[in-house]
Amino acid sequence: MNADYDVIVIGGAFAGASTALMLKRQRPQTRILIVERATVFDRKVGESTSEVGACFMTRFLRITHHLDRHHLPKQGLRMWFNDDQNECPTMCSEVGSYYQSRLPTYQLDRAVLDAHLLDLAVKAGCELRRPAKVTEWVQETPQKNILTYEHEGVTQTATSRWIVDASGKAAMIARKLGHWRRLESHPTNAVWARFEGVADLDSYQLAEKYPAWANATRCGRNPATNHLTGRGWWCWIIPLKDGAVSLGLTYDRRLFSLPEGADLGARLKAHVMQHPIGKLMFEHATPIAGDTRAYGHLPYYSEKIADDGWSCVGDAAGFMDPLYSQGLDYAGHTVCASLRLITKALDGMDVTGDAAKLSADFNESYMRWQESLYLNKYHYLGDAELMRVAFLLDLGFYFVGPVRLVHDFLDEEMSLLPYAGKVGGVVAKIMSLYNRRLSHIAERRWAAGQYGRKNTGMRWLLKRGFAPDATIRRTIYDGLKAWLMVELHALTLPRLTEPVAKPAPGASLI
Ligand SMILES: Cc1cc2nc3c(=O)[nH]c(=O)nc-3n(C[C@H](O)[C@H](O)[C@H](O)COP(=O)(O)OP(=O)(O)OC[C@H]3O[C@@H](n4cnc5c(N)ncnc54)[C@H](O)[C@@H]3O)c2cc1C
Repeated sequence: MNADYDVIVIGGAFAGASTALMLKRQRPQTRILIVERATVFDRKVGESTSEVGACFMTRFLRITHHLDRHHLPKQGLRMWFNDDQNECPTMCSEVGSYYQSRLPTYQLDRAVLDAHLLDLAVKAGCELRRPAKVTEWVQETPQKNILTYEHEGVTQTATSRWIVDASGKAAMIARKLGHWRRLESHPTNAVWARFEGVADLDSYQLAEKYPAWANATRCGRNPATNHLTGRGWWCWIIPLKDGAVSLGLTYDRRLFSLPEGADLGARLKAHVMQHPIGKLMFEHATPIAGDTRAYGHLPYYSEKIADDGWSCVGDAAGFMDPLYSQGLDYAGHTVCASLRLITKALDGMDVTGDAAKLSADFNESYMRWQESLYLNKYHYLGDAELMRVAFLLDLGFYFVGPVRLVHDFLDEEMSLLPYAGKVGGVVAKIMSLYNRRLSHIAERRWAAGQYGRKNTGMRWLLKRGFAPDATIRRTIYDGLKAWLMVELHALTLPRLTEPVAKPAPGASLI
């Protein structure tokens, strides 16, 4: 076996396999080694796709046939709210689409998808060591990386011109070089499991019991990513191709903690059962043994994601929050940006400036992303009226910006970072403004006992849907109007004398 390569990829899952595959397709003479730790992939989070991630898979990777055969089509995002008094599922306020989604998106079985991508990369001519764990990386010169890994009980080394870090949360390069940062301003935890025996929201039995509720939409609710929400937390419910259902809880430690208990799966079920829609779906469900996981603190990033000779893709560059399922969007962007750098470097061009710009753009994009979408969002997650404003505006701006751009200018835009640059900065400022206002209003509503005042009895179903064309302006306009209404109501609320939320504790509280 050759021990010298053009490129070595650490980690052969979604981001690593995509990078290797597309590099081989675009530049067939490239000698690529993929080193993957896991013998087989198990199921993991990253199951629900957004429109940018799906565009990356369908139009860049061109794996639509695989997605259609082995995964489920997703029908948008649907949110369910409730208050302390209500126990009836049909009374829970609902925010979502009336018709099916306009652009393709999927509910993924990541074990199947990642295995398929890695298989394609190997068939395209990449070499694979598996199971093999990378234990050391040294950059002797920008032209020469030396990688050490354990494979079949033997320590081996390989050299390469370029290293791609696709090791996910392990973020090998960022940690080794001291670029890894934990984002303290968004103190969120997550717990998740897959369940069997979950009731189908579109079943005959439920339609018989609640006919008006069942007929309120013209699309299935079950294929959506259904979110149950409360102050400080939200749960995702994602159906999978084999009939299992992924259930996850994400929460802000300042506002919520998961009640104690011996077993994480049982604690998760006990929590979801408190919501009428959760009870409807999970009453007879059981967690699948050995398929429960938890992360103590979700957001982190690398201050530098590339230099001459190396780059980070996917979660090895950073991760923020799963609320809008954008992990694979960012993986697509960092993979494409990395591909540009690598091909240039392998063709003998100087990429030092491009690498520095990519790191700067990534940091700008990440910080704006956090401030405009997530900073203190969990304060208003459980208030239907406030979250409806965010739903219309967050998704409206997502479609008018990132979704439209990657669909219209695929190659160029996929390799840029969303929210970076001048226009991105202006949009991020508008988004940060309403995000800040909504979280402030939520605190005032909470203090005044008016939080969630429309959490029951409302059905806000969007007939126009979301599309990256002129129709999206109407959706943004509706969002701005809804924002104005909550601002007018806020005039009737007493001012806050001190913040309601406690400061973020440093340690994980799972
Ligand atoms: C709670 C939660 C929910 C999420 N939900 C969504 C969602 O709904 N939609 C979405 O788009 N995104 C979601 N994400 C984000 C998504 O999971 C990630 O963005 C995505 O999985 C990243 O893929 P990756 O290939 O970069 O990393 P990973 O999938 O983590 O792959 C890393 C690979 O590197 C290998 N590896 C690690 N260390 C080594 C080593 N030393 N040597 C060799 N191999 C190594 C591992 O074995 C693994 O195969 C979620 C994230 C979290 C935390």
